[in-house]
Amino acid sequence: MKIKCDFCKTEYSLNKIPANPVCCAICGHTWMVKTSNKKNQFFVFVAALCALLSAIIFSIVVVVHYHAKSDNNSPLVANIVKTELAPDGNGINHFIVSGIIENKSDGIYGAPNLIIMTYDEKGNSVNAPETFNPPVTLLDAGARAGFVYTLRAPSMGVKKIVVKLEDFEK
Ligand SMILES: [Zn+2]
Repeated sequence: MKIKCDFCKTEYSLNKIPANPVCCAICGHTWMVKTSNKKNQFFVFVAALCALLSAIIFSIVVVVHYHAKSDNNSPLVANIVKTELAPDGNGINHFIVSGIIENKSDGIYGAPNLIIMTYDEKGNSVNAPETFNPPVTLLDAGARAGFVYTLRAPSMGVKKIVVKLEDFEK
């Protein structure tokens, strides 16, 4: 460690902290070398170690959580990209739902039927779920396919539309 004379600022290198007072060879100033520096270094080290450990634990939690989440996810996902309103012959509006079904896995999957659920602003179901055929029968690894479906039920009262996959999500 390095110590400095408080009086003339001359620096000295020491292998260990002396138990007795030291005397400056230049100016003769005598003082007691405090051990606080070394203790502080130790505490800084412990604090850094704790921070590192908590960072590791945090990343483990994140990784485990992430894995758990992806295990729960199905290999296929369907998402709505766009909804439009279109009137039928009687002037009653129906939603036209456009979306994408995607295979997020490394394997080939048969595409399941898609189910459209409709909800009001409170999250209650508005119309009975409507099931329709997928745009393709098979999805290669990483493949996507677009779908467009016009709801049979009128759009009245519908505030939220959700698409689900018949075989993967209940
Ligand atoms: Zn000195």
